[in-house]
Amino acid sequence: MSLSWKVVMQKIRNRIIGASILCDTCQYNWGNVCKKPERPNAKVCEEYKRK
Ligand code: SF4
Repeated sequence: MSLSWKVVMQKIRNRIIGASILCDTCQYNWGNVCKKPERPNAKVCEEYKRK
């Protein structure tokens, strides 16, 4: 399985400045929009999109 550029950058960022919860700033973190099991504590997410 190859990682997307987005996920690679998230992993690098987590290593350098510490992991943060992506869901807190994600456009899809409301109602039933996101059904990923990682929600609401995703630290790496292919679908992440900043608000
Ligand atoms: S898409 Fe990813 S980052 Fe966004 S709410 Fe869902 S699990 Fe969290």
